[in-house]
Amino acid sequence: MSLQRDKDFMLRQHLAGRGIRDARVLDAMARVPRERFIDAASQGSAYADRALPIGCEQTISQPYIVALMTESLALRGDEHVLEIGTGSGYQTAILTELAGDVVSIERHAQLSQQAGRALAELDYYRAKLIVGDGTLGWPLEAPYDRILVAAAAATVPPALIEQLAPDGILIIPVGGRERQVLQAIRKVFGQMKSEAITPCRFVPLVGDAG
Ligand code: SAH
Repeated sequence: MSLQRDKDFMLRQHLAGRGIRDARVLDAMARVPRERFIDAASQGSAYADRALPIGCEQTISQPYIVALMTESLALRGDEHVLEIGTGSGYQTAILTELAGDVVSIERHAQLSQQAGRALAELDYYRAKLIVGDGTLGWPLEAPYDRILVAAAAATVPPALIEQLAPDGILIIPVGGRERQVLQAIRKVFGQMKSEAITPCRFVPLVGDAG
């Protein structure tokens, strides 16, 4: 099986076939080589539509969920984006393709370093990687036009709401340990409006305000 054929199948079946419509998102998913963000043992599954282990008991997210979260951010190209949970750096690469710049926080230094290497090898320099607790956001560079959280929270961390720009969008899985609902939260005239996107299952957001 060639990776290119697997990737074409992913784009057609798992993304377009399941309702991803944003052509910019599909193009970005076509450009970014997912195999470069996973280890040697998983190469054959690089474009399978599921999460894969990346070390530190964490996973690279399922391609469909990456596409859905990215599409929900409605990126036009110049946004200042905060990502919580760098993990492998794959989602970071997709965001870098579609936004102005990305600040990405990861609590495991080892994963952040691995992700940094993969991103540098592919010339993704518009992402700043930070090791720390993303539940506190990153006030230094706030406000953010978009915030994407790739780990499950019991409740939405207040710092992230504070650091969201007016008209901004925050995408976050909220719920229990086993099951959550992916939420899109918008700040409209200072009021928070929340919309459920889909049921999902993420690794937990571990931090002071998670
Ligand atoms: N989008 C990533 C998904 C990574 S899984 C990818 O596709 O590879 C979620 C990540 O969130 C894990 O790496 C985990 O270590 C990280 N994480 C969990 N809680 C966190 C926190 N409070 N701050 C920063 N990162 C956190």
